[in-house]
Amino acid sequence: DPEMALRGREVIHTLTTAGHEAYWVGGCVRDELLGRAIHDMDLTTSAEPEEVLALFPHVIPTGIQHGTVTVMQDGHAFEVTTFRTESGYTDHRRPTEVSFVKDIREDLMRRDFTMNAIAMAEHGERVDPFGGEADLRAALVRCVGRAEERFEEDGLRMLRCIRFASVFRFRVAYNTWKGMIRRREGLRYIAMERVRIELEKMLAGPDPLRGLEMLGRSGLLDCTKVPVPWEQCDAQALQEIVQLPAELRWGLLLMSCRLSFEAADELLKAWTFSNAARLRLVHLLEWETELISHAAAIAGNSVLSDSDCINDEALRRSWIQLLIKLGKDTASDWLELYKTLPSSFRGLPPSVEMHVQKIAELANSWTQQAVVVRIKDLNITGNELVQAMNRPGGPWLGQLMEQLLQAVACGDIPNETETLLQEVKRVMSSE
Ligand code: ATP
Ligand code: MG
Repeated sequence: DPEMALRGREVIHTLTTAGHEAYWVGGCVRDELLGRAIHDMDLTTSAEPEEVLALFPHVIPTGIQHGTVTVMQDGHAFEVTTFRTESGYTDHRRPTEVSFVKDIREDLMRRDFTMNAIAMAEHGERVDPFGGEADLRAALVRCVGRAEERFEEDGLRMLRCIRFASVFRFRVAYNTWKGMIRRREGLRYIAMERVRIELEKMLAGPDPLRGLEMLGRSGLLDCTKVPVPWEQCDAQALQEIVQLPAELRWGLLLMSCRLSFEAADELLKAWTFSNAARLRLVHLLEWETELISHAAAIAGNSVLSDSDCINDEALRRSWIQLLIKLGKDTASDWLELYKTLPSSFRGLPPSVEMHVQKIAELANSWTQQAVVVRIKDLNITGNELVQAMNRPGGPWLGQLMEQLLQAVACGDIPNETETLLQEVKRVMSSE
């Protein structure tokens, strides 16, 4: 975003004109040198937070005790952090003390990897004391300083290391890798939320398998606070992960670990997924389980009723039941997943597999035909039913609405108030 770059330059210019040093630093410099899109710009300066506050009209004191303020420049936000050192990592994650310093090199020293420890001044001049640019050219993730110490200070850096190696398709420098293996137990101290965020970034990247392979090979996978049963993981199923949209990649991961949807639900809770993201994945797994059991039941019956039409209609009704239970969004997620997973993954008997395949072929048209799959889209309300039946509300009401929904969703009756009332009366009188 050239607009953001200009505004950033203005902030740097204002600081330097006032006699301070100021630079772009960290991810934005790295991404610029890699020719990648830049999503946010961090700045670093010799000015103390109070001085930054005094120089700009719109500043938010976001983390002022750590030296970070947010400067708003024409609608763009820049985190401006005073040069600082960190010390006293007692919890394997956060420093207990920060002190402001006057030398940019000291600030760069606290940063995790050489490629993240490059500062760039107003006109592009670089301060790069650890050879970050050379490592970028060599496609290497390398710790600043002694890897073992740096990972001991903050265990999250190990996941960042693998995330960067995976997303950029870099290698990990030999000593960095060795340090990581020595310190991997330190990952147990890291809050699952941080672990999840790193893993999500890794999985969303262009080569998630690379990261997963490194996580496995380094032994880090087994060192998270809440482990995933990776041993059960089906490597062949995972091969296809990159075909899936990022939000569904976890779904494939859980499925290839052969987790039930209930177990997946627990795991995703412990991994601090948002409710929306968790339910999306759990519904996806639930859909898979239910669909297979429907298909198996129908395949079992088809020995008796050898007609394809009867089978197709039964399959269609199963699909619609799932639409009602788990929603159309889950249906399209499942179809996406189905295209991706090799059929051998499921290990189904051929007759069941054939039925699942049939469902996948016809599902889109079934979904389109089923216009109404939610109670609230029925052209009748619970109140109207209570009045028409002249009967106080109760469990019968919900059951009846469900029945109506089934009938409408399957196309047995039209979604018209009059017809729905007639149907209700028919059902009630037949009971
Ligand atoms: P991303 O593309 O994910 O934003 P980033 O490198 O910008 O990558 P941030 O979390 O935004 O990551 O951090 C900004 C900078 O702060 C990093 O480039 C690095 O210099 C430093 N940094 C971040 N996390 C750590 C850490 N755990 N240990 C040491 N330095 C860190
Ligand atoms: Mg960043």
